[in-house]
Amino acid sequence: MHTVKILGKRKRIALVAHDHKKTDLLEWAKHNATALAKHELFATGTTGRLLEETLDRPVKKLLSGPLGGDQQIGAMIANGEIDMMFFFWDPMEAQPHDSDVKALLRLCVAWNIPMACDRATADFIMTSPFMHGEYETTIPDYEGYLNRKIKEE
Ligand code: PGA
Repeated sequence: MHTVKILGKRKRIALVAHDHKKTDLLEWAKHNATALAKHELFATGTTGRLLEETLDRPVKKLLSGPLGGDQQIGAMIANGEIDMMFFFWDPMEAQPHDSDVKALLRLCVAWNIPMACDRATADFIMTSPFMHGEYETTIPDYEGYLNRKIKEE
């Protein structure tokens, strides 16, 4: 059981990069600037500021990740306000907000949001024909979960 949702041509894209991955994301974004220009960009605070400088275009900036930005993006995903995410997280360094990182990754899967965590996957997603047109996505149906019986103790 699931709900069908149409993603429009203009996607709402969230971008996040940990400090040691920011150069990687910025290089990738610069390389894909023309394609990204067709979409609406959201980012955690510092990533967003650097993206604005690199791409010379506005990016909707949330709080810095460790200060709640990851959770803000998570809330937008749960509200159906983000279509896909490019999240270059650092596999070599523990983050002060590791729990937020894990929560964000989990919400992407819970809501069936396409997510690239490295450059190779980001390239595959950006070159997908679904990026240029509409895409019929499915959202898992959580009705059963919401209506579950809670046993009284
Ligand atoms: P930042 O946050 O873009 O504000 O550095 C990234 C992160 O989630 O660590």
